[in-house]
Amino acid sequence: MAKSNLEIKAREILKAAKLYCTAGRVAILTVLMKAGEPLSQNQIARRSGENHFDKVTIYRTLESLLDVGLVHKVFIDKRARHFELSHNCTESQCHPHFTCTSCGDTTCLTEISLPMAKSPHKGFIIRRQQVRLEGLCPACA
Ligand SMILES: [Zn+2]
Ligand SMILES: [Zn+2]
Ligand SMILES: [Zn+2]
Repeated sequence: MAKSNLEIKAREILKAAKLYCTAGRVAILTVLMKAGEPLSQNQIARRSGENHFDKVTIYRTLESLLDVGLVHKVFIDKRARHFELSHNCTESQCHPHFTCTSCGDTTCLTEISLPMAKSPHKGFIIRRQQVRLEGLCPACA
């Protein structure tokens, strides 16, 4: 199979993060780049193609990508953690996510930047802000 541009990009990202280009890492990064929206572990597994990585491999590979900050957890939906590439986020803030209450599709709102919330009480330290918006997408409205 010919290497896609996304696969080449995935290898570059891994090299920059000083991680070995394992087939699993390349597949997961490629799947997340192609999706452009947060995906659950099951969705990643289903889309990771002909190699059919098992659950344990997907889990371990995701953990290694989370460790170096290439991927991060976005939210939990129907008990499933959803992951995305960190390249559109800063250390302290992830862009807002819009989930359609009718079809369930989630969109990354990378063009919106919200002011960081201020801690309301003493002793609370805000490390990261993740905002989730709900409503109807253009197709369902
Ligand atoms: Zn993010
Ligand atoms: Zn919709
Ligand atoms: Zn996103």
